[in-house]
Amino acid sequence: MAHTLKVLAKLARRYRVDQGARFRLSTHDPAEVHLSGGKSEAKKLLEDGRERVRDLQERLYAQDRWSVLMVLQAMDAAGKDSTIEHVMSGVNPQGCQVVSFKQPSQEELDHDFLWRCARALPERGRIGIFNRSHYEELLVVRVHPELLQRQTLPKTLVTPKIWEQRAGDIANWESYLARNGTAIAKIFLHVSRDEQRKRFQARLDEPEKNWKFHVSDVAERAHWDAYQQAYQDAIRRTAAPHAPWYVVPADTKWFTRLVVMAALIQTLESLELQFPKIAGERKQELVRAGELLAAEKRKPRKGAR
Ligand code: ATP
Ligand code: MG
Repeated sequence: MAHTLKVLAKLARRYRVDQGARFRLSTHDPAEVHLSGGKSEAKKLLEDGRERVRDLQERLYAQDRWSVLMVLQAMDAAGKDSTIEHVMSGVNPQGCQVVSFKQPSQEELDHDFLWRCARALPERGRIGIFNRSHYEELLVVRVHPELLQRQTLPKTLVTPKIWEQRAGDIANWESYLARNGTAIAKIFLHVSRDEQRKRFQARLDEPEKNWKFHVSDVAERAHWDAYQQAYQDAIRRTAAPHAPWYVVPADTKWFTRLVVMAALIQTLESLELQFPKIAGERKQELVRAGELLAAEKRKPRKGAR
């Protein structure tokens, strides 16, 4: 286990971006695989990692002080869903929640853009996963101005500065959450355009994958460069030590999962989670309860079988 944790900590460090100013997406290779033992080593690391996440999550729940928010952002077919499935399998479902953000409803559009996200935040003691998130406001809404129009904001507030302002609002909101005990990790699954094409093609070719295919996803590829630019800008403006981004190579699925697992473990480890220490009067109570149970065992109740 110690070896696994060392390798995972190194991976988490490698892909972590906690200062945005000089961030450039072009220096990150979506096809990178940085593991000497390849897929077979990854399998073992993932197994160990699951055990570690399970243990840390139990402490998080018992301690009931911190919450963890993992934001997952990606282009279509980068593997968000399967990553969640692989990284979170083994975690007690009671301590974890996944929320998917789709196109906002009319009720959501009638509020400020963070409203629906604030309502979906994890409670203390839990891990919350945002499958897409408030970042869509700097991504799809930026790439498609008609979506901003649907938000029916007062005209005077919609200026060319709106993206910079929204990024600032998001950064401030995340600082606020961090100061209230939410540990934040933001994941960008960085897939290449060519790999996305291959995955879409597979969805067409394999009947069991047809259901995943949306014609509109292909049309969205025309905006590829605008999305990449928007991601770079969003990461630049919102990466911070208390709310880092992890820019995860996403062309090789088994490697993607491993790095996301590494980021989650890194986030949990940073909280120094401990089971609550029982002492004083409460400890006495436990001793007395133990004595009662022992007495019952020695002298079963009348009539009990
Ligand atoms: P998958 O395609 O793997 O099922 P998905 O996350 O792409 O998962 P979809 O139902 O295909 O889910 O798409 C949800 C859509 O909602 C995405 O195109 C996303 O950009 C859009 N969306 C999310 N948040 C917002 C928002 N705030 N404003 C406008 N569109 C949004
Ligand atoms: Mg989709």
